[in-house]
Amino acid sequence: MIDLKIGQLNFSYFDGLVLDDINLSVEPGEMVGLLGPNGSGKTTLIKLISGILKPGHGDIMLGGSNLSRLNRRNIASRVAVVPQQFHIPFAFTASEVVMLGRTPFIKAFSGETGADRQAATTAIELAGISDIAGRRFDELSGGERQKVILAMALAQQPKLLLLDEPIVHLDISHQIETLELVRSLNTERGLTIIAAMHDLNLASLYFDRLVLLEKGKIHADGTPEEVLTEDRISRVFSTAVKVNPHPITGAPHIIIIPGEHKDNHVPS
Ligand code: ADP
Repeated sequence: MIDLKIGQLNFSYFDGLVLDDINLSVEPGEMVGLLGPNGSGKTTLIKLISGILKPGHGDIMLGGSNLSRLNRRNIASRVAVVPQQFHIPFAFTASEVVMLGRTPFIKAFSGETGADRQAATTAIELAGISDIAGRRFDELSGGERQKVILAMALAQQPKLLLLDEPIVHLDISHQIETLELVRSLNTERGLTIIAAMHDLNLASLYFDRLVLLEKGKIHADGTPEEVLTEDRISRVFSTAVKVNPHPITGAPHIIIIPGEHKDNHVPS
């Protein structure tokens, strides 16, 4: 279990702020969905929380330690990322890819230890990929690869798991399977989860808390009911919607109204 506290965080790549005064506290064991239009800053925020990028201003505290003062191994034992894209240039097997998750812990020249192998085996079991562990990564389907990458992240034995649009290229069955797996890692293993999500309805169904970014700022932070309102979605995503309670769960269910996109008017 680990908590995350982000205070007054600013970030820009070259000029212009990409993230502007982000303040966010995530309690140990929370499962948070990060929403927002393309370019609103979700991936950048995930890269900052995982230490890939450094903040221009502000602090990121992970389990009470400032990320900027932690070394690579200490960061890797706290936080792992499932990135949007992951390319392996070699003919690695799935289990070799999972073992890459142990790289930050393997000392130069001494090679992997029994503890590293045990962490990888457990991760393979947790992700449910034992049957494909010996197959070549580049010959797996998109859904299978996604699970291998998740297992690679789990092999780090992180306390905070970050996922950048984990279901975006998957069919509906694999989307649900992935979200169920992530939820069970949260409820059964106590992993704190932050996942960037594009599908608002699935975010509504699977996350207790949603953080909506708009142009680098937090526009809303709360329960799905608080965040997914008709006005807010219409404004932030420039798309007219109706929001009704889901007929079975009661969670907000977003219904898109075709032809009502704000930028969809052909000049006469
Ligand atoms: P999201 O994940 O919400 O789509 P991103 O964090 O990818 O948003 O992008 C936020 C903004 O930062 C966008 O304007 C994007 O063009 C810009 N950006 C993202 N990555 C880079 C980069 N490597 N160099 C320069 N600008 C970038």
